[in-house]
Amino acid sequence: MEKVVIIGTGCAGLTAAIYTARANLSPLVLTGLMPGGLLTTTSIVENYPGFAEGIDGTELMSRMQKQAERFGARVKFGVVEAVDLSRRPFVLRVDGDSVAAEAIIIASGARHRQLGLESEAKLETKGVTSCATCDGALPIFRHQPLVVVGGGDSACEEATYLTRFASVVYLVHRRGELRASKIMADRTLAHPKIKPIWDSVVTEVLDVKQDKVTGVRLRNLQTRKESVVACAGVFVAIGHVPNTQLFQGALDMDPNGYIIPKSGSMTNVPGVFVAGDCSDHVYRQAVTAAGLGCAAAIDAERYLASLNR
Ligand code: NAP
Repeated sequence: MEKVVIIGTGCAGLTAAIYTARANLSPLVLTGLMPGGLLTTTSIVENYPGFAEGIDGTELMSRMQKQAERFGARVKFGVVEAVDLSRRPFVLRVDGDSVAAEAIIIASGARHRQLGLESEAKLETKGVTSCATCDGALPIFRHQPLVVVGGGDSACEEATYLTRFASVVYLVHRRGELRASKIMADRTLAHPKIKPIWDSVVTEVLDVKQDKVTGVRLRNLQTRKESVVACAGVFVAIGHVPNTQLFQGALDMDPNGYIIPKSGSMTNVPGVFVAGDCSDHVYRQAVTAAGLGCAAAIDAERYLASLNR
C-alpha cells in the first residue's frame, strides 16, 4: 500500500513530491497525460523566482522532477481512471491496475478551454491548436497570417511567440482592452507583427470543407458586423478548465469544477488534499502552485503522522 499518491506532475504535484519524499513517504507520483503539466507548453518562464534570465518551462519541470526523484519520489507515467474515496485505504484505478493509498494529493491541474465551435473541433490538429510552443514552428504556419484568440497573459505569450514564424499575428479579443498583465500587454501591443482585433469573437473556423484552416469568421460585438480574416492557423488561448471530473460528487467543488478545500489544503474527505490549478482559479501562477503543493505535502505528512498515533 502507498502512503501517499500524488496525482499530477506540474508545479504543485512535483513540489508536493519533493516535500513528501524528503519526509520519507516515498510518494508515488502519477503524471497523467501531460507529464510536467501546462508549464511544458510555455516557452520562457520569466517570473519564477531564482531564474533571473528566465527558464524554459520544460527545463524547469524536468529539474523539479529530478529534485523529487533524488529524495525518493517515484514518478510514473499513469492516468487515473477512477477513484474510490469512500473507503480506507483509498483505491485508485491507474491504467487498469488498482492502487491503494492512505493519503492522496490531487494536483491534476487544468486544461485549455476551447471555444466550443463545431468547426474548431473538426479542424483540431489541422490548424487549430492551443499550444504555440508545441505547434508554432510547423511548416503550415510559417510565413502565414495566424490568429490568436484571447486577451490574457496566455494569448499575449502565444501571439508574441508566433511572431517568429508568422507573417502577421491577429490577436482577436472579445473586449476593447487586454486582461493580461501590463508588462505582457504593452510588449504584445508594441510588436509590429501583432495586430489586435478588438471587441470580436470567432463564430466559425474556416474551412471544414477543405479540411484545413483558411480563415476565421468574426463577429464584432459592438457593431454586430461579420467579417472574414484569412489565416493558416488558429491558436485558442482563452483560459483553462480544471481537471477534476474524476472527483465530481465526491469532493466539494465550485460551479466551475474547482475543488474547494475545507481546512488548509485538506478537502471534505480527510486524507485527500488538493493543490495548484485544479483548486486555484485566482492566482494560477507557477510559484503559487508550487507553494500550494508544499502546503499539501505538509498537511498530508501531518495527517499520516496522526493516523499512526
Ligand atoms: P485568463 O487570464 O483567464 O484569460 C482568458 C482570456 O480569454 C480573457 O481575456 C477572456 O476574456 C478570454 N476568454 C475567455 N473565454 C472566452 C471565450 N469563450 N471566447 C473568447 N474569449 C474568451 O487566462 P490565461 O491567459 O490562460 O491566464 C491564466 C493565468 O495564467 C493568469 O493568472 C495568467 O497571469 C497566468 N499566466 C501567466 C503567464 C506569465 O506570466 N508568463 C503566462 C500565461 C499565463 P475577458 O478578458 O473578456 O474575460
